[in-house]
Amino acid sequence: MTEALATLSRAYRMRVYPTRDQARLLAQLVGASRHVWNWSLAKRTSAYRERGERLNWVSLSREFTEYRRDPERPWLATLPREPFNQVLRDQERAFANFFAKRAAYPRFERRGGRASMRFTFDQRRQQVRDTGGRWATVDLPSLGSLKLRRTEALNGRLRSITLSRDSAGRWHGAITADGISRPAIHVPELDAVGLDAGLRDLLVIADGHGTRRVPAPKALASKQARLRRYQRQQSRQIAAQMRAQGLDPTKPCPKGVRLGSSNRRRKTQQQIGRLHAQVADLRRDALHQASAAVVREAQVIGIEDLAVKAMSRGMGRKAFRRSVADAALGELRRQLTYKAGWRGRTLVAVNRFYPSSKTCGACGAIHAALKLKERRWACPACGTEHDRDENAARNLRTEALRLIAASSPATPRSGESDARGEAAAAVGRTGPAGLSTSANREPTVAGSGAKADRRQRQSRPRKTRTDRVAVGSG
Ligand SMILES: [Zn+2]
Repeated sequence: MTEALATLSRAYRMRVYPTRDQARLLAQLVGASRHVWNWSLAKRTSAYRERGERLNWVSLSREFTEYRRDPERPWLATLPREPFNQVLRDQERAFANFFAKRAAYPRFERRGGRASMRFTFDQRRQQVRDTGGRWATVDLPSLGSLKLRRTEALNGRLRSITLSRDSAGRWHGAITADGISRPAIHVPELDAVGLDAGLRDLLVIADGHGTRRVPAPKALASKQARLRRYQRQQSRQIAAQMRAQGLDPTKPCPKGVRLGSSNRRRKTQQQIGRLHAQVADLRRDALHQASAAVVREAQVIGIEDLAVKAMSRGMGRKAFRRSVADAALGELRRQLTYKAGWRGRTLVAVNRFYPSSKTCGACGAIHAALKLKERRWACPACGTEHDRDENAARNLRTEALRLIAASSPATPRSGESDARGEAAAAVGRTGPAGLSTSANREPTVAGSGAKADRRQRQSRPRKTRTDRVAVGSG
């Protein structure tokens, strides 16, 4: 690391209290600085206009030496030279910016304009001294010792002071300093989050401060609405066909019976297939944004694991909704698995049979009778009112932290854990109809904390290799 990166430069601004004589001299210096700026600007302008010549600081400085000695301007010779050197340097920079097309052509200064001057400090002697309490002095040529009122300790190498007068006639000094050692940077501990993927919202995220919803993008919501419409249309068409074949449409179609098809039904089926693909694309894109943000800000990510048992039930309306939610969860899980690996985050898949929705986040009581359609509920044990998704996300966060505490993260068992890692990745794969294809498995913990994060960054090419630790199932 170079010194420039290890240290800071800054300016300390403070009030300056000149004596009456010093104030008079400062006012004189302000006027003289303006005079020198305008003299130099006139020289540069005519040289450029008349001869196409660009004067530089060195030649102007030499010329200024002559100009200052001119007996026609005795007042200039009595004033300290240093602020005028600064004026000439400032103008040099102003022209450099103009020629680089970063700034407009430098302008002549008028009385009442800028009222400031700069003195660079001689590094061989100490010009700024503490005089007790908040007071300090700065020794400047011709001005002598100027009184300053510090607001803080001055650190580093002091390079220059710019004295300026505000519209109220008060003087301030800005002391620039470099080589200030950087203060120890406080790196905030990354948070743990719990994620609930759903239908209504893309994600509900619970962190240490509360919960927030990441809504599904509008395009996704409207495609999903259209998909549901076609699904309803299809079930009406199936019911009509069953009635036509003398079957009861309120009961499932008996095995071995082939339902006749129609052009309209085939068309509906094609539409449903197309919409499924579009919904999956939109959801994947939206989840990529959300998962990237989650992995950036959280060290521990708790997420519901997928279980196939829930899938093997019939494909009713509820089951359809569930399959959509599971497809989202599966995709989220897939993305988080590799993104967490890149960043060394810990992904904890909480067993689906952990009742994240039905557990009261306040008292821990399990409300077994909670129905899926109940989006808000009050805990029968403690009376706390819950939003279903927010409560679930909070519980997933708590459970993930509990599982990590219960496991010993310092002992990665590589052979076994690799197999688990692949199995975990398989959980994320989803079938064409948006159904997950995987067996129920124990929760797994991927990555091993901040140390892994640092290791990962140092050895970038090894992309997805993370230590996986199995933890006991809940
Ligand atoms: Zn409760």
